[in-house]
Amino acid sequence: MEKIVQNAGRNALGEFAPEFAHYNDDVLFGENWNNHDIDHKTRCIITVVALMSSGVTDSSLKYHLENAKKAGVSRKEIAAVITHVAFYAGWPKGWAVFNMAKEVWAEKESAADARAAHASQMLFPIGEPNDGFAQYFIGQSYLAPVSDEQVGIFNVTFEPGCRNNWHIHHADKGGGQILICLAGRGYYQEEGKEARELHPGDVVNIPVGVKHWHGAAPDSWFSHLAVEVPGENGSNEWLEAVTDEVYGLLK
Ligand code: MN
Repeated sequence: MEKIVQNAGRNALGEFAPEFAHYNDDVLFGENWNNHDIDHKTRCIITVVALMSSGVTDSSLKYHLENAKKAGVSRKEIAAVITHVAFYAGWPKGWAVFNMAKEVWAEKESAADARAAHASQMLFPIGEPNDGFAQYFIGQSYLAPVSDEQVGIFNVTFEPGCRNNWHIHHADKGGGQILICLAGRGYYQEEGKEARELHPGDVVNIPVGVKHWHGAAPDSWFSHLAVEVPGENGSNEWLEAVTDEVYGLLK
Protein backbone atom coordinates (compact mmCIF):
# COMPACT_ATOMS: atom_id res chain seq x y z
CA MET A 1 0.00 0.00 0.00
CA GLU A 2 1.37 3.37 -1.04
CA LYS A 3 1.87 5.88 1.79
CA ILE A 4 -0.82 8.55 1.84
CA VAL A 5 0.56 12.11 1.71
CA GLN A 6 -1.70 15.13 2.23
CA ASN A 7 -0.92 18.84 1.80
CA ALA A 8 -4.45 20.27 1.75
CA GLY A 9 -4.14 21.66 5.30
CA ARG A 10 -0.90 23.55 4.63
CA ASN A 11 -2.13 24.70 1.22
CA ALA A 12 -5.39 26.12 2.57
CA LEU A 13 -4.58 27.10 6.16
CA GLY A 14 -0.81 26.95 6.50
CA GLU A 15 -0.48 30.65 7.30
CA PHE A 16 -3.82 31.24 9.02
CA ALA A 17 -3.78 28.13 11.25
CA PRO A 18 -0.45 26.31 11.04
CA GLU A 19 -1.30 24.05 13.98
CA PHE A 20 -4.58 22.90 12.42
CA ALA A 21 -2.76 22.38 9.11
CA HIS A 22 -0.16 20.25 10.91
CA TYR A 23 -2.83 18.07 12.61
CA ASN A 24 -4.69 17.68 9.31
CA ASP A 25 -1.71 16.78 7.11
CA ASP A 26 0.60 15.01 9.56
CA VAL A 27 -1.71 13.37 12.10
CA LEU A 28 -5.12 12.77 10.49
CA PHE A 29 -3.75 11.92 7.04
CA GLY A 30 -0.07 11.27 7.84
CA GLU A 31 -0.75 8.80 10.66
CA ASN A 32 -4.40 7.80 10.92
CA TRP A 33 -5.04 7.37 7.18
CA ASN A 34 -1.85 5.28 6.97
CA ASN A 35 -2.94 2.94 9.77
CA HIS A 36 -3.57 -0.54 8.31
CA ASP A 37 -5.74 -2.06 11.06
CA ILE A 38 -8.65 -1.60 8.63
CA ASP A 39 -8.11 -1.74 4.89
CA HIS A 40 -7.99 1.44 2.81
CA LYS A 41 -11.22 0.80 0.88
CA THR A 42 -13.16 0.25 4.12
CA ARG A 43 -11.67 3.44 5.58
CA CYS A 44 -12.81 5.39 2.50
CA ILE A 45 -16.37 4.03 2.86
CA ILE A 46 -16.46 4.78 6.61
CA THR A 47 -15.40 8.37 5.91
CA VAL A 48 -18.16 8.86 3.34
CA VAL A 49 -20.68 7.39 5.80
CA ALA A 50 -19.47 9.67 8.61
CA LEU A 51 -19.74 12.80 6.45
CA MET A 52 -23.14 11.78 5.10
CA SER A 53 -24.45 11.03 8.61
CA SER A 54 -23.35 14.45 9.86
CA GLY A 55 -24.95 16.13 6.88
CA VAL A 56 -21.65 17.38 5.48
CA THR A 57 -22.25 17.55 1.74
CA ASP A 58 -19.68 20.17 0.71
CA SER A 59 -16.45 19.81 -1.26
CA SER A 60 -14.96 17.56 1.43
CA LEU A 61 -17.63 14.93 0.73
CA LYS A 62 -16.93 15.26 -3.00
CA TYR A 63 -13.21 14.68 -2.26
CA HIS A 64 -13.96 11.59 -0.21
CA LEU A 65 -16.37 10.18 -2.81
CA GLU A 66 -13.62 10.57 -5.43
CA ASN A 67 -11.18 8.97 -3.01
CA ALA A 68 -13.55 6.01 -2.51
CA LYS A 69 -13.86 5.56 -6.27
CA LYS A 70 -10.07 5.53 -6.57
CA ALA A 71 -9.91 2.88 -3.84
CA GLY A 72 -12.03 0.57 -6.00
CA VAL A 73 -15.56 1.32 -4.71
CA SER A 74 -17.83 0.53 -7.66
CA ARG A 75 -20.98 2.38 -8.67
CA LYS A 76 -23.05 -0.56 -7.40
CA GLU A 77 -21.27 -0.52 -4.04
CA ILE A 78 -21.58 3.24 -3.41
CA ALA A 79 -25.28 3.08 -4.35
CA ALA A 80 -25.77 0.28 -1.80
CA VAL A 81 -23.81 2.22 0.86
CA ILE A 82 -25.86 5.41 0.41
CA THR A 83 -29.15 3.49 0.33
CA HIS A 84 -28.27 1.64 3.54
CA VAL A 85 -27.15 4.75 5.42
CA ALA A 86 -30.19 6.75 4.25
CA PHE A 87 -32.39 4.53 6.46
CA TYR A 88 -30.30 5.32 9.54
CA ALA A 89 -29.08 8.86 8.89
CA GLY A 90 -32.04 10.35 7.06
CA TRP A 91 -33.68 10.16 3.64
CA PRO A 92 -32.82 13.74 2.53
CA LYS A 93 -29.15 13.04 3.24
CA GLY A 94 -29.44 10.07 0.89
CA TRP A 95 -30.77 12.34 -1.86
CA ALA A 96 -28.04 14.92 -1.29
CA VAL A 97 -25.23 12.36 -1.45
CA PHE A 98 -26.72 10.55 -4.43
CA ASN A 99 -26.72 13.79 -6.41
CA MET A 100 -22.99 14.14 -5.74
CA ALA A 101 -22.17 10.43 -6.24
CA LYS A 102 -23.91 10.48 -9.64
CA GLU A 103 -21.40 13.12 -10.76
CA VAL A 104 -18.39 11.25 -9.41
CA TRP A 105 -19.46 7.95 -10.99
CA ALA A 106 -20.80 9.81 -14.05
CA GLU A 107 -19.12 8.09 -16.96
CA LYS A 108 -19.98 4.53 -17.67
CA GLU A 109 -17.67 2.35 -15.65
CA SER A 110 -14.53 1.83 -17.74
CA ALA A 111 -12.79 -1.52 -17.99
CA ALA A 112 -9.97 -0.08 -15.86
CA ASP A 113 -12.42 0.94 -13.10
CA ALA A 114 -14.02 -2.51 -13.14
CA ARG A 115 -10.60 -4.15 -12.96
CA ALA A 116 -9.62 -1.91 -10.01
CA ALA A 117 -12.86 -2.78 -8.21
CA HIS A 118 -12.17 -6.48 -8.72
CA ALA A 119 -8.54 -6.12 -7.61
CA SER A 120 -9.63 -4.41 -4.38
CA GLN A 121 -11.48 -7.60 -3.38
CA MET A 122 -8.40 -9.78 -3.11
CA LEU A 123 -5.00 -9.96 -1.46
CA PHE A 124 -3.05 -11.19 -4.49
CA PRO A 125 -2.28 -8.89 -7.42
CA ILE A 126 -3.92 -9.31 -10.83
CA GLY A 127 -0.51 -9.31 -12.49
CA GLU A 128 0.21 -8.89 -16.18
CA PRO A 129 -1.82 -9.71 -19.32
CA ASN A 130 -1.51 -13.47 -19.81
CA ASP A 131 0.02 -13.16 -23.30
CA GLY A 132 1.92 -16.45 -23.10
CA PHE A 133 -1.31 -18.45 -22.93
CA ALA A 134 -3.62 -16.07 -24.83
CA GLN A 135 -3.96 -18.57 -27.71
CA TYR A 136 -5.68 -21.00 -25.28
CA PHE A 137 -8.18 -18.43 -23.94
CA ILE A 138 -11.24 -16.61 -25.23
CA GLY A 139 -11.15 -13.04 -23.86
CA GLN A 140 -8.52 -11.29 -21.76
CA SER A 141 -6.87 -13.05 -18.84
CA TYR A 142 -4.12 -11.97 -16.44
CA LEU A 143 -1.44 -13.93 -14.64
CA ALA A 144 0.43 -13.27 -11.39
CA PRO A 145 2.96 -15.83 -10.15
CA VAL A 146 2.49 -16.44 -6.42
CA SER A 147 5.02 -19.30 -6.11
CA ASP A 148 7.36 -20.57 -8.80
CA GLU A 149 9.34 -22.95 -6.59
CA GLN A 150 8.39 -26.33 -5.02
CA VAL A 151 4.70 -26.09 -5.95
CA GLY A 152 3.73 -23.72 -8.76
CA ILE A 153 0.91 -21.38 -7.71
CA PHE A 154 -0.48 -18.69 -10.01
CA ASN A 155 -3.24 -16.17 -9.58
CA VAL A 156 -5.29 -16.28 -12.79
CA THR A 157 -7.80 -13.47 -13.42
CA PHE A 158 -10.46 -13.61 -16.14
CA GLU A 159 -12.37 -10.55 -17.43
CA PRO A 160 -16.16 -11.06 -17.78
CA GLY A 161 -16.86 -13.71 -20.45
CA CYS A 162 -13.24 -14.92 -20.51
CA ARG A 163 -12.54 -18.66 -20.22
CA ASN A 164 -9.77 -21.05 -21.11
CA ASN A 165 -10.08 -23.77 -23.77
CA TRP A 166 -10.99 -27.32 -22.91
CA HIS A 167 -7.79 -28.92 -21.61
CA ILE A 168 -6.36 -31.91 -19.79
CA HIS A 169 -3.64 -31.98 -17.13
CA HIS A 170 -1.54 -35.08 -17.74
CA ALA A 171 1.01 -36.85 -15.52
CA ASP A 172 2.32 -40.39 -15.16
CA LYS A 173 2.04 -40.23 -11.37
CA GLY A 174 0.49 -37.56 -9.10
CA GLY A 175 -0.32 -34.35 -10.95
CA GLY A 176 -3.57 -32.55 -11.62
CA GLN A 177 -4.60 -29.07 -10.56
CA ILE A 178 -6.33 -27.38 -7.62
CA LEU A 179 -8.27 -24.14 -8.06
CA ILE A 180 -8.80 -21.89 -5.03
CA CYS A 181 -11.35 -19.19 -5.83
CA LEU A 182 -10.44 -15.68 -4.63
CA ALA A 183 -12.85 -13.08 -6.00
CA GLY A 184 -15.76 -12.59 -8.38
CA ARG A 185 -17.89 -15.34 -9.92
CA GLY A 186 -16.85 -18.03 -12.35
CA TYR A 187 -17.40 -21.55 -13.61
CA TYR A 188 -15.67 -24.94 -13.80
CA GLN A 189 -16.91 -27.68 -16.09
CA GLU A 190 -15.82 -31.25 -16.76
CA GLU A 191 -16.76 -32.85 -20.05
CA GLY A 192 -20.17 -34.53 -19.89
CA LYS A 193 -21.12 -32.79 -16.64
CA GLU A 194 -23.03 -29.65 -15.65
CA ALA A 195 -20.92 -26.53 -15.12
CA ARG A 196 -20.23 -25.74 -11.46
CA GLU A 197 -20.64 -22.09 -10.38
CA LEU A 198 -17.70 -20.81 -8.34
CA HIS A 199 -17.48 -18.19 -5.58
CA PRO A 200 -14.66 -16.90 -3.34
CA GLY A 201 -13.49 -19.64 -0.99
CA ASP A 202 -14.57 -22.52 -3.26
CA VAL A 203 -11.97 -25.18 -4.01
CA VAL A 204 -11.91 -27.39 -7.12
CA ASN A 205 -9.81 -30.57 -7.25
CA ILE A 206 -9.06 -31.47 -10.86
CA PRO A 207 -7.77 -35.01 -11.34
CA VAL A 208 -5.25 -35.89 -14.05
CA GLY A 209 -6.71 -36.96 -17.37
CA VAL A 210 -10.04 -35.14 -16.97
CA LYS A 211 -11.06 -32.83 -19.83
CA HIS A 212 -12.32 -29.51 -18.42
CA TRP A 213 -12.31 -25.71 -18.61
CA HIS A 214 -12.51 -22.83 -16.13
CA GLY A 215 -13.25 -19.12 -16.42
CA ALA A 216 -15.38 -16.11 -15.50
CA ALA A 217 -19.16 -15.76 -15.56
CA PRO A 218 -20.47 -13.69 -18.50
CA ASP A 219 -21.05 -10.61 -16.31
CA SER A 220 -18.35 -10.90 -13.64
CA TRP A 221 -14.61 -10.73 -13.22
CA PHE A 222 -13.17 -13.86 -11.64
CA SER A 223 -9.85 -14.87 -10.04
CA HIS A 224 -8.60 -18.19 -8.78
CA LEU A 225 -5.27 -19.48 -7.60
CA ALA A 226 -4.17 -22.36 -9.84
CA VAL A 227 -2.06 -24.84 -7.88
CA GLU A 228 0.00 -27.24 -9.97
CA VAL A 229 -0.08 -30.54 -8.09
CA PRO A 230 3.43 -32.03 -8.43
CA GLY A 231 3.62 -35.10 -10.64
CA GLU A 232 5.95 -37.11 -12.85
CA ASN A 233 6.18 -36.04 -16.51
CA GLY A 234 3.42 -33.46 -16.11
CA SER A 235 2.08 -31.67 -19.17
CA ASN A 236 -0.99 -29.76 -20.32
CA GLU A 237 -2.92 -30.75 -23.41
CA TRP A 238 -4.82 -27.77 -24.85
CA LEU A 239 -7.91 -28.61 -26.91
CA GLU A 240 -10.75 -26.76 -28.65
CA ALA A 241 -12.28 -23.49 -27.39
CA VAL A 242 -15.43 -23.51 -25.25
CA THR A 243 -18.04 -22.54 -27.82
CA ASP A 244 -20.78 -19.95 -27.35
CA GLU A 245 -23.32 -22.82 -27.49
CA VAL A 246 -21.83 -24.32 -24.33
CA TYR A 247 -20.82 -21.10 -22.56
CA GLY A 248 -24.01 -19.29 -23.62
CA LEU A 249 -26.10 -21.58 -21.37
CA LEU A 250 -24.43 -20.07 -18.30
CA LYS A 251 -25.60 -16.96 -16.47
MN1 MN B 1 -7.14 -26.64 -15.64
